[in-house]
Amino acid sequence: MVISGEILTVSSHKVERIFRLLQSEYGHLQRKKERDPLSELIATILSQNTSDLNSHRAFRNLKERFPTWEEAQKASQEEIAEAIKIGGLFNEKARRIKALLEEIHQQEGGLDLSFLVKMDSDRAQKYLLQFKGVGPKTAACVLLFSLGRSSMPVDTHILRASKRIGLVPQISNALQAQAVLEGITPPQLVYPLHLSLIEHGRRICKARLPLCTGCILRVECDYPEKTN
Ligand code: SF4
Repeated sequence: MVISGEILTVSSHKVERIFRLLQSEYGHLQRKKERDPLSELIATILSQNTSDLNSHRAFRNLKERFPTWEEAQKASQEEIAEAIKIGGLFNEKARRIKALLEEIHQQEGGLDLSFLVKMDSDRAQKYLLQFKGVGPKTAACVLLFSLGRSSMPVDTHILRASKRIGLVPQISNALQAQAVLEGITPPQLVYPLHLSLIEHGRRICKARLPLCTGCILRVECDYPEKTN
């Protein structure tokens, strides 16, 4: 793929080697609890700019307060905000969740997105992207975690580690990196590679000081400053 003149050719064999190394280090990482598409969509909104722990708590509180999405739709924005306030940016997230539920209900006559299961990935992605506040990363989360598609949401850890390793061009943004990674990763490895790269970014390939000396990927990594 060419991104602003930068050409990068990475084989799926390299991706497989990297994945095997990561797997030898971290084992089989636990997959997320599978949710229906609408619940995953809302959980993803709640996960933005907050820790996993607090976003899980916010989702749990929301479901305890409103056991069905119909009840949440009928609630006020303030009531939703109150239920999710542990998750940070709660007023903004409550506004987006309320608007999303209203829009889906108006369009579908109900609050069930399970019909996405029968759509191909491109159509399902396009459907999700029509909603205000749903970007490519959020749509990719629904596709991967709820619909079982080989879609690669790119968070800050994956973007940083992928650039250093040399899997994606240095000037990639998250969306470009997503397209590159989806293109070079064997479909069955997308989900476990997603989990492994996040783990590696959190533990070893840290933002400010990557721990290159003891890194399992050192031999495969293109990072020019892997000196410490
Ligand atoms: S060698 Fe360094 S830069 Fe490369 S993946 Fe490991 S920690 Fe990250």
